[in-house]
Amino acid sequence: MSQYSEYTNEQIHTMDKAHVWHHLTPAAAAEKGMPLYVKGEGLHLWDADDNCYLDASAGGVWVTNVGYGRKAIVDAISEQLMELNYFAGSMASKPAAVFASRLLEKMPGMGKVFYSSSGSEANEKAFKMVRQISHKKYDGKKRKILYRERDYHGTTIAALSATGQSQRRDHFGPFVPDFVEFPHCFEYRSQFGDVEDYGIKAAQLMEEVILQEGPDTVGGVIIEPITAGGGVILPPEGYMAEIQRICRKYDILLIVDEVVCGLGRTGAWFGYQHYGIQPDIVTMAKGVASGYAAISCTVTTDAVYQMLQEDNGDKLGFFRDISTYGGCLAGPAAALANLNIIEEEGLIANCAHLGEVLLQGLHALKEKYPMIGDVRGKGLFCGIELVLNRETKEPVDEAVAIQIVNACKEAGLLIGRTNRSFETFNNILNMSPALCITAEQIEDILNILDRVFAKVTL
Ligand code: PMP
Repeated sequence: MSQYSEYTNEQIHTMDKAHVWHHLTPAAAAEKGMPLYVKGEGLHLWDADDNCYLDASAGGVWVTNVGYGRKAIVDAISEQLMELNYFAGSMASKPAAVFASRLLEKMPGMGKVFYSSSGSEANEKAFKMVRQISHKKYDGKKRKILYRERDYHGTTIAALSATGQSQRRDHFGPFVPDFVEFPHCFEYRSQFGDVEDYGIKAAQLMEEVILQEGPDTVGGVIIEPITAGGGVILPPEGYMAEIQRICRKYDILLIVDEVVCGLGRTGAWFGYQHYGIQPDIVTMAKGVASGYAAISCTVTTDAVYQMLQEDNGDKLGFFRDISTYGGCLAGPAAALANLNIIEEEGLIANCAHLGEVLLQGLHALKEKYPMIGDVRGKGLFCGIELVLNRETKEPVDEAVAIQIVNACKEAGLLIGRTNRSFETFNNILNMSPALCITAEQIEDILNILDRVFAKVTL
């Protein structure tokens, strides 16, 4: 007997329409009834009418890295919760200690893990570290945080203040002071035309902003290793190393937001590891526990940790911060079981290999369908940019992207679309299947996309 057995699906829909406020959903759409998924197994999802879907979106927003229905994770959570469910994060606990140690094995050069419960919160912690360091070391002056156009860092007001997507920000200002935007590094839509050293030139646009603001006022730079919601944008050759070089030159902390890319999504444990850089702070959420529990981490180097321990007259030899649910033991228990699955099943290698197969398949579709202007990706994280004209790169209308997503769903495939309801970049489809995907499932995805593209009308 489940606690819901007394309710019919009809009643669930009625209660949902009456009482649940759905994220990013206008009332008219909610009124039509939202999908009711009732079961997941591996990459498959079933709705209440028993329709089965292959989920290539990892739960809609790049979350379920190890797939649905993982008994080992559920057992680990339930065992932990029966023993002890909660005590504040100032207490030592088995799951928090063991997960932190195992995580740091995958992150050479990093030294400490601060737990909280969402990606936005993990980024807030990073910003607060920069601010507190600024007060400790620089009389509060070196406090500005630079963020990049098109990157997303979360929904809370400071995280949104660090987000380079005007459509997400509209209607929520004024923003937190001292967050400053720098230009994107989107080679497909290069600011410089076709140049050889695009990566270096794009990174130097950040240096220009640092110089305008004054290097002694800039304490941190935050970037996504691969821009996710802003359009699956990979850093061009040389870009990341140049960003790091510039940060070091001006004594600026480099914060890498791995909320989407972390825990294997790109075919490495972390996205930044493809680019040979050593961040000062790394934030992560989603794939940390693949959606089985709400957990996020702000991971720092020992040097950052130490800066916050020094009592240099302020009587504050610690990071003055807390997160209530950073102490919920379901989080690290789930995260440890999730990490064990990634390791034991060789999911990073599977992701790197099958991600390449998926990307090649998408390139083949690009050859066939002129409306595919660009295909890009790393590991099992891909984007398809749709255009009306390959020369001018004029984006297709949002309706076309919607048509494709809907047609895929009709055919039993769930894919994502970048920034629903955004005027400027709603022409990008994205895919991020669970890392345990098989070669046959990759083929199914490509076959369905092929059939759907063959029927799209512009
Ligand atoms: N950073 C990135 C790169 C994200 O994509 C997201 C969520 N989509 C966040 C931060 C915010 O995470 P959360 O919604 O868990 O607060």
